[in-house]
Formats: sequence, structure tokens, C-alpha cells
Amino acid sequence: MNGDLKVRKYDNQIVLPKDICTQIEQVAEKAYPNECCGILFGAVESDLDKVEAIEVLDNMSTQSIKDSYYMISPLELFSYEQDYQKQGYEILGFLHSHPDASAILSAADKAQMVPELFYLIIEVRQGKVTSQSAWRKNKSDDSITEINIT
Ligand SMILES: [Zn+2]
Repeated sequence: MNGDLKVRKYDNQIVLPKDICTQIEQVAEKAYPNECCGILFGAVESDLDKVEAIEVLDNMSTQSIKDSYYMISPLELFSYEQDYQKQGYEILGFLHSHPDASAILSAADKAQMVPELFYLIIEVRQGKVTSQSAWRKNKSDDSITEINIT
């Protein structure tokens, strides 16, 4: 990661192509009743916040709380980040699911947000994806903005 803040065209939206959307839905439904988690990658050269690829990560939370928490292994994250960097991709953000809970940020979610990254939440009810939302914490004042998914 470098320290430069990139200026992209669309500040408050993230582009989720149909095939990526389908992939994410499958991952979230497969993980049910547990939370899934993963990385959203975009092209470094792009001036658009467009998800080009995702990688699913193991939910490292304790078994008994996997239905309401997720934890990412820093080693797994680092390894994927390096692989994708070589191909011209960077981390745009993270996804995780909320089994039988609304697609809004929990207190735990808010506490672990890295500023400027996107957080996509997938709501899964009875094993089926019902809704999704995206959020970002602003670097300037730590406020949180809901992002349009297009
Ligand atoms: Zn959450």
C-alpha cells in the first residue's frame, strides 16, 4: 500500500457486476447459518470503484459465535493481497454476511472498519440472500457513509 489517496470518479458508489453479485450470493448462502467473509478486489488502474474479483476467506471466529461474528486471518489476507497485487489489483474492501439479521453495520463491524475501504454486508434469511448494503468510514472525520451499489 502507498500513502497516496486516489481520486476516483464516483465517490459514493461501488460497482458490483452481475457475475460477482451471483458469486457473493452463493458464498453467503453456502456459509449459512454462519457468517461468510471475503475480500473485494478492484483494478489499481481503474478510476471507478468496481469489484473485479472476490476471494472468500475462512471465518476464523470461534465455532459457537460464527453465526454472528467473523474474523479474518491476517496471514491469509496478506497472502491474497500479494497475489493480486502482482496482477494489478488492490483491496477495495471486504464482504461478510449477516445470517438472519439486517444488512446494517453492527457495533463490532463499525469498530473494525478501516477508513476508505468498502464494507459490503449480505443479509441472509433462512439460507437465502434477501438484501445487501455497502458502507465506508471516511478518513477525515471517522463518519460512516452508506454507499450505493450499482
Ligand atoms: Zn457484521
